[in-house]
Amino acid sequence: MNATAVWPTLVALVLAGAELRAASEDERSRWANAGFGSPEVASLTLPPAASSARITHELPLTLVMFRNAGWTPETVRATVERTAEILSQCAIGIRRVTLVVADAPESSPDIDAPGRGRDLRIGASIPPSEKPVVFFVGKTHDGNAAWSFNRKYVELWRLDPRVLDTAWVSSEVLSASYRASRHPAYSPTAHELAHILGNRGHVEEPNILSAFSPNDRITEEQCGAFRAYELARRLRDG
Ligand SMILES: [Zn+2]
Repeated sequence: MNATAVWPTLVALVLAGAELRAASEDERSRWANAGFGSPEVASLTLPPAASSARITHELPLTLVMFRNAGWTPETVRATVERTAEILSQCAIGIRRVTLVVADAPESSPDIDAPGRGRDLRIGASIPPSEKPVVFFVGKTHDGNAAWSFNRKYVELWRLDPRVLDTAWVSSEVLSASYRASRHPAYSPTAHELAHILGNRGHVEEPNILSAFSPNDRITEEQCGAFRAYELARRLRDG
């Protein structure tokens, strides 16, 4: 086990207050055998969200960051922190995270056509992991900056059940033009997790699940559905 190899990539997370446990050689081998190049795997315990919201449920996450995709540990960390802040409205916390940093299978970090094949192959190839799994990937060329496969979608399109509860976020969401076109409080990662946790599509009104004017607003009804989804775990004294 080369634990020190994990440090250069993850040092930003550690400095941000996360506790780090380097993964076992077994865990790295499982990702390498699945086609992920030179995987670094670590378990992280993140500090609580900045808000003082009461947390009754916890959502474990696996984050897979492709190298050379435009993402850095800092941008991934900021994304997860923002997502945790948004979900804390529903008393859902994000504390335990597995971070995988690897070269993308089939080498290119880009997903040209979301939902058409390559992402489905990659999603179906990963070793057993805590879900949801969020992939931080490179560019897309069809205008889809982020997407996900919730239960409804997997059943409707008869997709490989192994892609269930995976979200895909392209580095386009980091661009100035993308951010300028969205509400400042919006997080595409939180939006995709809302599709997964709510097992639902878009809504008309300005909301986290709006297609055209998404922001960070979550209704009580949506929060209830998110907490009831099997991946959100009730904390013992919550
Ligand atoms: Zn959407």
